[in-house]
Amino acid sequence: MKLPRVIKGYCPRCNSHQELEIERVKSRPRSEMRAGQRRFRRALKGYGGFPRPKPHGEKPTRRINIRFRCRSCGKAHHRPTIRAKTLELVEV
Ligand SMILES: [Zn+2]
Repeated sequence: MKLPRVIKGYCPRCNSHQELEIERVKSRPRSEMRAGQRRFRRALKGYGGFPRPKPHGEKPTRRINIRFRCRSCGKAHHRPTIRAKTLELVEV
């Protein structure tokens, strides 16, 4: 999927349409101190195997998180994720 690097859109902070830069949200390494990761580590301890069922197959597309950063105020906001195999940001 191709998306422009800059779009015109609504900025909730400016409460108006502004130029928004599209950034891809990169996944960060999981922090061992987060509550969910601590719960997961606890579930792996002792008897009993992996706490979740094994994933079957692979989905044809992945959810892609994109962030919209306003050019005038610098604040970023999110919209519901999109599904795509690949994401390409292009200059228009
Ligand atoms: Zn703004």
